[in-house]
Amino acid sequence: LNKHSYLINLGLLFCLSVRWGAAQSRFLCSSSPEESKSRPSMLRHLTTKLKATGPITVAEYMREVLTNPVTGYYVRNNMLGPDGDFITSPEISQIFGELLGVWIISEWMGAGRPKQLQLVELGPGKGSLAGDVLRVLSQLRSVLGEASVSLHLVEVSPALSLLQAQNLTRSCSQEADSEDEPVYRRGETAAGLPVSWYRRLDDVPAGFSIFVAHEFFDALPIHKFQRTQKGWREVMVDIDPDKPDKLRFVVAPSPTLASSTLVQADERRDHVEVCAEGGVIVQQLSKRITEEGGAALIADYGHDGTKTDTFRGFKGHQLHDVLSSPGSADLTADVDFSYLRRMAGGGVACLGPVSQRTFLKNMGIDTRMQVLLRSCVDPTTRKQLISSYDMLTNPIKMGERFHFFSLLHHSRLAKPKKTEGLKLDKKKSPAPLPVAGFTDEKIWQ
Ligand code: SAH
Repeated sequence: LNKHSYLINLGLLFCLSVRWGAAQSRFLCSSSPEESKSRPSMLRHLTTKLKATGPITVAEYMREVLTNPVTGYYVRNNMLGPDGDFITSPEISQIFGELLGVWIISEWMGAGRPKQLQLVELGPGKGSLAGDVLRVLSQLRSVLGEASVSLHLVEVSPALSLLQAQNLTRSCSQEADSEDEPVYRRGETAAGLPVSWYRRLDDVPAGFSIFVAHEFFDALPIHKFQRTQKGWREVMVDIDPDKPDKLRFVVAPSPTLASSTLVQADERRDHVEVCAEGGVIVQQLSKRITEEGGAALIADYGHDGTKTDTFRGFKGHQLHDVLSSPGSADLTADVDFSYLRRMAGGGVACLGPVSQRTFLKNMGIDTRMQVLLRSCVDPTTRKQLISSYDMLTNPIKMGERFHFFSLLHHSRLAKPKKTEGLKLDKKKSPAPLPVAGFTDEKIWQ
């Protein structure tokens, strides 16, 4: 048996059984004009706070603007899609989530096919990625055998959790009775898989898990630091003294706790952004993977510790000033993968970042496209398939801007050991399956 044959078979099975769905329906985004209007209450809330406490860190500003339980951007908006503020790869093409589904199964196989598989998604948006992954899992049910699969979604936004429930459970979900429950919503997919919603990763039960985070880390709060003649200083947000309803950036006159702990001693840039919350989440992922097995796949736009000022806003698909009409626009910053690698520590193996183009090509996106195009005669759908492929993989579109990064249990990459001792036992332990997407060993041939 060739060591890759499982993966190849997997690809063939899947090619035969999945068909192109109603692509356009993804693009019917339902954010009402009422919702997309900016509301002044976030600015009022912030100026009241700033008057009482003085300047706040950029991280605190970002946290308030995005996830404040009453007025936060993610809490009350449906921001994804052509009518929203931005569009993401899983919303552009179903192929994206399908290939991630294949990655998940191949990592589950690489881990020795554990009996339980928890699929955990951080920041699932509309639930489209999870839906595409689940479709692949159900097409490949025969590969998964008796393994029991469950879906766990970490989502701060009650509004988005409802949308995810509608998409994934055909409205068969129920909210928890009390706000203190770690699982705040429960449901079941049409195929009978249990789905649970949590506010924080900490609340997800222990067990063999594959974690996926797409465009999640870029939404977490960053601290910003500026090199000055007196050393590193934190950038803060304050009220503009000339215009009391406007905000501005100021540089803290003396060190803050963050500026004295989060900047590397040998840092060479003059301005850095550090996402401490993202660092904590990666530490938690790393600990879980070390203790329970599994893997994490993090996909986002980002850099490897080289960029400086990447903090920006998006509104109606246009760049938006991060300090104006807070709460009406998405705020985001590039993910620093070198920081995530550092925070992951030695307990896990890290792979990547590799560009989205490389990852998707290694996962066999070209073969998948050919299969879909062969079975698709409608010219409009064909055109749409080709343009979404181009959007995902073209280096000047999303192909080189987005990167894939993975945390793996060390055993996944362990070199085969020669068995010593007994003469009868001349077998080597089998070489680990290649980690799909990160090496150019093709899943589909
Ligand atoms: N992964 C989706 C959505 C990206 S938008 C996609 O690619 O289409 C970011 C998602 O993360 C949203 O679902 C948002 O509500 C969620 N989110 C943002 N901050 C979060 C936090 N601190 N904890 C949990 N979820 C968060």
